[in-house]
Amino acid sequence: MRIWIKDPFAILADGAERGLVVDGSQIVECVPRGGSPSVAADATFDATRHVVLPGLVNAHHHFYQTLTRAHPAGEGKDLIGWLVAMERVWDRMTPEALRLAVRLALVECLLSGCTTTADHHNLFPPGLDGAVDIEVEEATALGVRMTVTRGSMGISEKDGGLQPDSIVQSADAILADSERVLTRYHDPERGAMIRIALAPCSPLAVPQRVLSDSAALAEAYDARLHCHLCQSPDEDVYAMQAFGKRSVDLLDDAGWLCPRTWVAHGIHFNEDEIVRLGHMGVAVCHLPAADMAFGVGICPTKELEAAGVAVGLGVDGSASNDSSNVMEAVRHALMLQRLRYGHAAISPYDALRWATEGGARCLGRDDIGRIAPGFEADLALYRLDEPRFSGAHDPVAALVRCGAHRADRVMVAGRWRVIDGRPEGVDLDALRAKHAAAAKAFL
Ligand SMILES: [Zn+2]
Repeated sequence: MRIWIKDPFAILADGAERGLVVDGSQIVECVPRGGSPSVAADATFDATRHVVLPGLVNAHHHFYQTLTRAHPAGEGKDLIGWLVAMERVWDRMTPEALRLAVRLALVECLLSGCTTTADHHNLFPPGLDGAVDIEVEEATALGVRMTVTRGSMGISEKDGGLQPDSIVQSADAILADSERVLTRYHDPERGAMIRIALAPCSPLAVPQRVLSDSAALAEAYDARLHCHLCQSPDEDVYAMQAFGKRSVDLLDDAGWLCPRTWVAHGIHFNEDEIVRLGHMGVAVCHLPAADMAFGVGICPTKELEAAGVAVGLGVDGSASNDSSNVMEAVRHALMLQRLRYGHAAISPYDALRWATEGGARCLGRDDIGRIAPGFEADLALYRLDEPRFSGAHDPVAALVRCGAHRADRVMVAGRWRVIDGRPEGVDLDALRAKHAAAAKAFL
């Protein structure tokens, strides 16, 4: 079935003024100005009122935190104080609550125009052994493309770490489950809907063996590696005290400085580290909302990109952002990066590039993040008929500068997953009611 997404009001693609043709899960043709599809389409979608973007890619999240948004336990605390307080709330997570948290987060991402998301699930209290399975089931049911990162925390407070014993696992348990989910779910092929990545919470949160053995597993299964890195200036102070090395060097020792790795935040690197990350092909996911919320600093995107580091975007967990709106993250990134580098240095197109091609590079994918023949048909379509857009000139820039919030149509792998601003196959009111009820257990 060939569908012509015809005559978009505007589109973020080269040579596609008259739209694009989708066949199955892929984009097969871009239609230039004055042209028409080389093979007649079976159906046409009138896009004359839509601004068409490649589906947004969210490269870092913690879905379970949707149950603890605007939570008072963390309010008024710095990053570490917030984390210590919130981990003693999250440790009561159950499979039933996680399933609702995941479903709601996926829907929220989808409605904002996100077609591929990562989720850093690092919470494994007793009884939640099947967390990755739940995420895969929910993403598959909703038809969202996903990289589920099997997170881990391995050093608890009794061993000098921050985490309560209740959410920390042994190295053997972490590595055994990592291999289990890789075997069961990871699809390294082009067009994959589900991939698994391995993601210790940070190089300081697990024994070195978990880092090095995770790198070996990732190599064996052609999977990616992920962790939080250098979010706050305190991190390397602690790393030097506890390990006698900086975080980047701990990763280097474990074989993590390689093109399989993308890291979250990536703010407090020294100049030498930025050069090394670029040289080794490590990617960085910028998380503007969480970084602003904690006042920890601003990701040095210009220096990173100049060194060859791919930069992607993410929303981060819903207890720090506290929203999963990926389009909103694009605007946050534009504003925060302009605060650092000035108006002329960063454009709305830079922020959109991070949220599309940059995110795809974070997730190690060359089949998403662009509208071009051979890429997956992942699209986000927005309308500019709200008052906030009235008077806008550049329609693509307007999405970022005026603050687009909700996609009208979203396609993943050639199938409409959002129609008229509503998620397909989801009773949104019922989901919200169940999710809100489940959240009461986390007060
Ligand atoms: Zn995070």
